[in-house]
Amino acid sequence: MMSESKTRENIVRLSKSLFDRGFSVGSAGNISAAVEDGILMTPTNSCLGFLDPARIGKLDHRGNYVSGDKPSKEIFLHRAFYETRPQAGAVVHLHSTYATALSCLSDTDPEDCIPPLTPYVVMRVGRVRLIPYVRPGDEKAGDLIRDLRGAYAAVLLANHGPVVTGKDIESAVYASEELEETAKLLVMLRGAPVRMLSTSNVQELKAVFGEGLKS
Ligand code: ZN
Repeated sequence: MMSESKTRENIVRLSKSLFDRGFSVGSAGNISAAVEDGILMTPTNSCLGFLDPARIGKLDHRGNYVSGDKPSKEIFLHRAFYETRPQAGAVVHLHSTYATALSCLSDTDPEDCIPPLTPYVVMRVGRVRLIPYVRPGDEKAGDLIRDLRGAYAAVLLANHGPVVTGKDIESAVYASEELEETAKLLVMLRGAPVRMLSTSNVQELKAVFGEGLKS
């Protein structure tokens, strides 16, 4: 496992990159990463563009506060993934525009919010479930993620935004970006006769890239 100091640097670097490119605005969004003795978590009300590695919050494996600025109040979304997906090394939660737009559309399929439009979303993100709307800060959203028993690497919180895991911070960030870009394509193509990847196309991807595939 990567050292804690390197993980802190990576959180700052990748958070700034997401902020600089508009994947996060204001104090929206939060990122966590597993370290040997707990979880690092971006602080509450912090802006992803201006984090200080030394002030990133830290919790132990039980979720008790250890050090740094107070972790985001959305920490329970992250913990639900770590508890149900042992392979999760990082979690990224954004309010990115197009994924959030899809989370608000009444005809988004709750079982498959990001249908297989391109091979990359299949490879990097996998199938995405919609979590019914709950008030921000209501820990019931964590229970709803736990109910999925780790079967999904990404969910969309209805009328709120995506939560995405990866084996490490880079893969979680890249998967979040892939999810957002695919959501953008889906919104752009609304009303047009779209040719999705077929079931056999998806099966072929799973056969060839099986190891790297999510859910
Ligand atoms: Zn949020």
